[in-house]
Amino acid sequence: WCKQQGQSYRFYSPEMDELEVERRLIEMDLTQAIERAEFQVHYQPQVNLRTGEVIGMESLLRWNHPGRGMISPATFIPIAEELGLIVPLGEWVLKTSCQHAKNWQQWSASPLRVSVNLSMRQFQQDDFVDRVAAILAETGLDPKLLVLELTETCLMQDVKTTITILSKLKALGIEISIDDFGTGYSSLNYLNSLPIDALKIDRSFVQHLATSEGANAISTAIIAMAKSLRLKVVAEGVETVKQLLALQEMGCQAMQGYLYSPAIPIAEVEILLQADRRL
Ligand code: C2E
Ligand code: CA
Ligand code: CA
Ligand code: CA
Repeated sequence: WCKQQGQSYRFYSPEMDELEVERRLIEMDLTQAIERAEFQVHYQPQVNLRTGEVIGMESLLRWNHPGRGMISPATFIPIAEELGLIVPLGEWVLKTSCQHAKNWQQWSASPLRVSVNLSMRQFQQDDFVDRVAAILAETGLDPKLLVLELTETCLMQDVKTTITILSKLKALGIEISIDDFGTGYSSLNYLNSLPIDALKIDRSFVQHLATSEGANAISTAIIAMAKSLRLKVVAEGVETVKQLLALQEMGCQAMQGYLYSPAIPIAEVEILLQADRRL
């Protein structure tokens, strides 16, 4: 970016590195981006590994910046978290995703779930459960079709409070999934006591499947453990047929990844669902 726009970073201060300038620019623009409707929610299909059917979509936030094009959530979400903007932004994502998911059901023979990523700040709001309930009521989405994705780090922050909040969400009928599983530090003991429904095997393990013994062993262990705890397993970041076959053999239920589809804009989701394209 800096190269494209010449030497504009010099403007700030010679000591500031590129990243710091980037951060400040994003900070300024983020504040107005919601009002200017620069955000979009894209969706990555999740596929049943036994039947090849699309069973749901993960909602992934995109920022279409007027001057800079698409900015990755990996860049702007940490900044939105720091500024506290993730709370209104996350709420917008949740509401938009529920509206879209409500609409998809007409094109699908079986119910389609939507998985929404949550940041810790959102989850820790005092009235979080009420807000989710209000969005479900407003959009009319069946709570059983909403999955909330939380990371281990977020869940393990304060386990007692986590259990209380998760129990309330479960009482509404919502599913809970642990994102990036295997990369955090959750104790297996706590895992058993959390009211969760699914685990997502992190891409870092999936990536090396069928090439590294270690990655195979970890995925096999996660799948076996999930089975004994009666949890669903979704593998993320599946890019090759080899990885897919390895996961099928291990008994993993579902996958998402570039092999089937990247995250796509809402208009393409509608086309994909109407075409009923199987894996
Ligand atoms: P995540 O939740 O682990 O999402 C998976 C990321 O992997 C997504 O990146 C997705 O586009 C990418 N991906 C999917 N399949 C493949 C594949 O086969 N190969 C590779 N190399 N990558 C794949 P994305 O969309 O850039 O999102 C990055 C992260 O930003 C997400 O990681 C999530 O932590 C965060 N994020 C995205 N949307 C939201 C949101 O609405 N709220 C919050 N709090 N976080 C979000
Ligand atoms: Ca996720
Ligand atoms: Ca993930
Ligand atoms: Ca990840």
